[in-house]
Amino acid sequence: MIIIMLGAPGSGKGTVAKLLSKTLNLVHISTGDMFREEVQNHTELGMEAQKYMEKGELVPDEITIKMIQGRIQNSEGVVFDGFPRNKAQALALNEMLEVQNKKIDLALQLNIPDEDIIYRTVKRRTCSNKECGAIYNLEYRKPKVDGICDICGSPLTKRADDNEETIKNRLNVYHSRAEEILKFFEEENLLYTVNLRAKDNITEEMVKNWLEDYKTIKK
Ligand code: AMP
Repeated sequence: MIIIMLGAPGSGKGTVAKLLSKTLNLVHISTGDMFREEVQNHTELGMEAQKYMEKGELVPDEITIKMIQGRIQNSEGVVFDGFPRNKAQALALNEMLEVQNKKIDLALQLNIPDEDIIYRTVKRRTCSNKECGAIYNLEYRKPKVDGICDICGSPLTKRADDNEETIKNRLNVYHSRAEEILKFFEEENLLYTVNLRAKDNITEEMVKNWLEDYKTIKK
């Protein structure tokens, strides 16, 4: 099964992708995480990507698509988180999948007001252990011990681009592209939208219900 997560930065794509990956045994591919790893490892790709990431802009398509190509070769089921972000990337993904006789099954859009997103992202903290990657919020999903992950005990970090100025720019970048990509998946009859607020605690049960509902609609 191939699922695409759609939604603004900070809409909860990462959280839902993790739940989907666990429930359906899918490989979770997050282009944002991949870029952050490249930046952390000071690779050439990372240095190039960082220039765009720190301004909240998209990394050019050719770099992003090339990075993805190597990753989906042997994956049966995938949940894509943060990719594709525009129509050119969506078309490139369709081509890559076609070669492997696969196709996208669902584009799941998380729709959440911008003011909720700004509030949520400024207070977001992420577990520094890549294997865990648990996401917290200092307001309504606090860790039990300040700065420490409840699940694995690793330190929590704040993403460099989770500041108000960069978030506002990332939201502008998102809205300028959102229409074309939503239209693309709507026309492909793959779009399913969920309306949420920042305080909503997304559970495995909720995600399973969305999948069931989508299956019923598709019939
Ligand atoms: P994210 O963690 O998905 O919010 O991504 C963080 C940053 O990585 C974005 O603001 C972009 O600079 C870059 N990025 C992630 N995914 C993509 C993509 N599909 N295309 C271009 N840039 C991306």
